[in-house]
Amino acid sequence: MAHDPTESGTAQEHTSGTTEARKKKEFFLPILKGLANTIAHIFRREPNTIFYPEERRAPYPGYRGEHRLKRDSLGREKCVACFLCSTACPSHCIEIVAEEAPWDDREKRPRIFNIDMLRCIYCGMCEEACPCDAIELTPIYNIPVLSREDAIYTKEKLLSL
Ligand code: SF4
Ligand code: SF4
Repeated sequence: MAHDPTESGTAQEHTSGTTEARKKKEFFLPILKGLANTIAHIFRREPNTIFYPEERRAPYPGYRGEHRLKRDSLGREKCVACFLCSTACPSHCIEIVAEEAPWDDREKRPRIFNIDMLRCIYCGMCEEACPCDAIELTPIYNIPVLSREDAIYTKEKLLSL
């Protein structure tokens, strides 16, 4: 059968017309949805803002905020200075210096336990790595600091959170 170039051209034009229409739809539909969302927010009665710091939003469950060192039932730090958290930390922001523990149930405790919060990426690897459940990331998200030194959380600060 002989090939009709006119027919083929029409089919091509039809296909390209359909593609153009689809492209336009894909382009304009999200814009229209976005505009509708914006307009709906303009006429919403509830405010989107809160009076921070008097009012504070509760973070979502699982939020990883400031770090805390935990104490046991006797008030002692749970940390046994095993260095697993500092080894697991991808930012190398945990500094631990161990000393002999004064108690019979463990060999060591941290004399120095510092976290440089300016380097921390809040990944939670330290919490995951700890075999003693001694460190955790709390939902606290708003501890302001005024200097780089203040951003080094010491053992005392971590135990007080
Ligand atoms: S949260 Fe991540 S980066 Fe921060 S101290 Fe723990 S392991 Fe290091
Ligand atoms: S916080 Fe946990 S992982 Fe880190 S040194 Fe102490 S016991 Fe080991």
